[in-house]
Amino acid sequence: MSERAAPFYCPYCGDEDLRPSEEGHGAWECASCNRAFRLSFLGLLAKGLRHDPIDEGGTAI
Ligand SMILES: [Zn+2]
Repeated sequence: MSERAAPFYCPYCGDEDLRPSEEGHGAWECASCNRAFRLSFLGLLAKGLRHDPIDEGGTAI
């Protein structure tokens, strides 16, 4: 888990020609559309990973 996750596609143009940016941490450059962007982890969703049982079955009255 020491390796950072790498994006497969540019979020702006969808190209795969991405390379790490010298801007540092989590920054990438797209050679296709010439954009630089940064990926950052925002945190876990409050909802969590549990499957909510309320979604199953529907309501019976
Ligand atoms: Zn791009």
